[in-house]
Amino acid sequence: MTAPKTPSVVLDWGDSRHWSAKSRPCEYCPGLTHLLDDEGRPAHKTCAEAAAAAAAVAVVDAYRQEGAWAR
Ligand SMILES: [Zn+2]
Repeated sequence: MTAPKTPSVVLDWGDSRHWSAKSRPCEYCPGLTHLLDDEGRPAHKTCAEAAAAAAAVAVVDAYRQEGAWAR
């Protein structure tokens, strides 16, 4: 298994709970969106995916700094 340099995250937001009838400001950018993230906060799917990928990078960095992969 090879780890990609930039992890990509694809979320499945097909569920109706990810849709709001009212558009609200996105958590991550100034735009408006009808979509909701897993926590029910307004967010574009692409914005949430970028944030999830960034979070994954942060976790990997934390592991590297702790030397967890060297054990
Ligand atoms: Zn957005």
